Amino acid sequence: MAAEPPAPSAPGLSQALTALHLTGGARSRAELTRQLGCSRGVMGYLLGELTDAGLVTVEPGSERPGSGGGRPSQLVRIAPDAPAVIAVQLEPDSLVVAKVAIGGVRLASEERPLAPEPAVATVVTDLGAMIAALAAPAPAVAAVAIAAPSPVSRADGRALAPLHLGWSDLPLRELVAAELELRGLEGMPVEVANDANLAALAESRRGAGRGAAQLLYLTTGHAGLGGGLVTDGHLAEGAHGYAVEPGHLTVSFPGAPCTCGSTGCLEVEADNRALLRAGGQPDVPLEQLVAASARLLDEAGAGDADALAAVREVAHHLGTGLASLVNLVDPDRVVLGETLARVWRLVPEEISSRVAARAFLDRLRKVPIEPAALPHAPLIGAAELALEPLLRDPRAAGAAAPG
Ligand SMILES: [Zn+2]
Repeated sequence: MAAEPPAPSAPGLSQALTALHLTGGARSRAELTRQLGCSRGVMGYLLGELTDAGLVTVEPGSERPGSGGGRPSQLVRIAPDAPAVIAVQLEPDSLVVAKVAIGGVRLASEERPLAPEPAVATVVTDLGAMIAALAAPAPAVAAVAIAAPSPVSRADGRALAPLHLGWSDLPLRELVAAELELRGLEGMPVEVANDANLAALAESRRGAGRGAAQLLYLTTGHAGLGGGLVTDGHLAEGAHGYAVEPGHLTVSFPGAPCTCGSTGCLEVEADNRALLRAGGQPDVPLEQLVAASARLLDEAGAGDADALAAVREVAHHLGTGLASLVNLVDPDRVVLGETLARVWRLVPEEISSRVAARAFLDRLRKVPIEPAALPHAPLIGAAELALEPLLRDPRAAGAAAPG
C-alpha cells in the first residue's frame, strides 16, 4: 500500500518521537497510531522519516493478536545508536552523571561524593572527566544538562548563588563547556538549570505530576526549599529563569533569620534545619543534615510525641506557604519532594487543612497534594531538558548524528 502524504493536521515527527519518549522508548505501532489519532498512512510516513534519521527502528511484533487473527502489530523502538544525552545532578555532597537515551532509559551512570565546600576547579575537572568517559562509547552524545542547587540565569548558564556548595556567582556553563573542549568535546551544547525546577519537570513528565495541566512542585533536599511550576508539560521559568523560587515567601512573623536577609521565609521555617530546631535539637553541619532530619522523621513515624509536634510545626508553615502559592498559580496538582514528601505522609491533614483555611476559592482548597514519585528527580529532569531540542526537531537531530 502506497503511503499517503501527511494530512495538514497530521501529528508531526516531534509528536511521534515525544510519544515514544514518554512511554519508555518502545511501543507497538498500533498503539502509537491510536495515541496520535492519525491514519496508518501518516504513521508510515512518520516512521519512515524517523527511521531515515536513525532515531527509531521498526521490528516485527511478537505480541499475539487477542482475537480475530491478523498479524501482530510491529514494535517501534528508539534505535540503539540514536543520539543520547548526559544529565548531571550537582548536589552539596555528591556529583551524579548519567547517560540517558531518548525514552528516558539510563544507559550508564557514575556518582562521586563531594567534600564539604569543594573547590570549583576540582568539581569542574571531575565533571569533565565523568562526562567524557560516558560520552566515549556509542551512542553519541547530543547535549549535556546540569541540575544545579542555585538560581540559574538560563540565558548564559550562570549559577548565581550556589551557597550550599560554598560558592558565589559562577559561570558554570562556560566553565564546563571549556573543560569539555579540552577533552575533545568542543561545541557540545551545555544547559544549566535550577535543580528543583528540573525535579518539577521530571515529576510532571514521569512521576506524581503526570497528567496535571498546572503542576506546583515544592521540595527540600538538603538546606533550603525549592520548587517549580510546570504548565502543560513545560517549565515556567520567568523572564530570566529564576521562577519559581518559593523559598522566600514570608510564612512566619518575625520568624527565623534567612540567608536572604529577611526573616520567617518558607525555606527557613519548613526545611530540614527548621525540623531540627522545632524538635529542640542542635544544628548540625550541612553534610549531617539530611541524616539528622531523617532520624527525627523516623521517630515521628514511630509515634514519638515530641518529634511529631516538630513535624506538625513545620507542616503548619509549609501549609501557610502552599496556600499563598496555590492562590497565586491555580494548580490542579501539588507534588511535594524529599523531606516535604515525608512530612506530608506523616501529617497530611496539617498541611491540607492549612491550605483549605487560606485558599481564596473553594476549588483551590481541595487541590490534590501528592508525595513525589521519582528518586533523583533533578537528574531525570536534566535529561528531559537536554533531550528537548532532539524531540522538538527530530530531523535536525538525525542530521547531526554521526554516520
Ligand atoms: Zn529568605
